[in-house]
Amino acid sequence: MENCIFCNIASGRTQARLIYQDEDIAAFKDLNPQAPTHILIIPVKHIASLSEAAEEDALLLGKIQLTAAKIAKELGIKDFRLVANNGKGAGQSVMHLHYHLMAGRRFLWPAG
Ligand code: 5GP
Ligand code: ZN
Repeated sequence: MENCIFCNIASGRTQARLIYQDEDIAAFKDLNPQAPTHILIIPVKHIASLSEAAEEDALLLGKIQLTAAKIAKELGIKDFRLVANNGKGAGQSVMHLHYHLMAGRRFLWPAG
């Protein structure tokens, strides 16, 4: 989708510090990290938010979670938080589905 920063990153039109990429998924470092490790994992396909995902995206959503676990393992990270903000009121600022993979500090629960 035009004018979508994460579509542009997934297609290589915009630079990012890539951690992982395949035909379905891209993972890259967050520009404004909120933890020592802060990686964004996105579908290459433009899905605005989790609310906009469809049945046909089930495999893709599962693959994103497995990719998060794989990236964490490769980085030697045992404890991490995987977060998807859904909707502006919940803190979503980029309207292309993304999961925050965060690690390297203590996290509060319930989440703030
Ligand atoms: P949200 O607030 O939507 O859950 O998370 C969006 C995240 O994207 C934020 O943590 C923000 O720092 C990150 N971000 C926004 N624009 C860019 C960008 O152009 N490149 C990268 N690498 N991260 C971005
Ligand atoms: Zn997009």
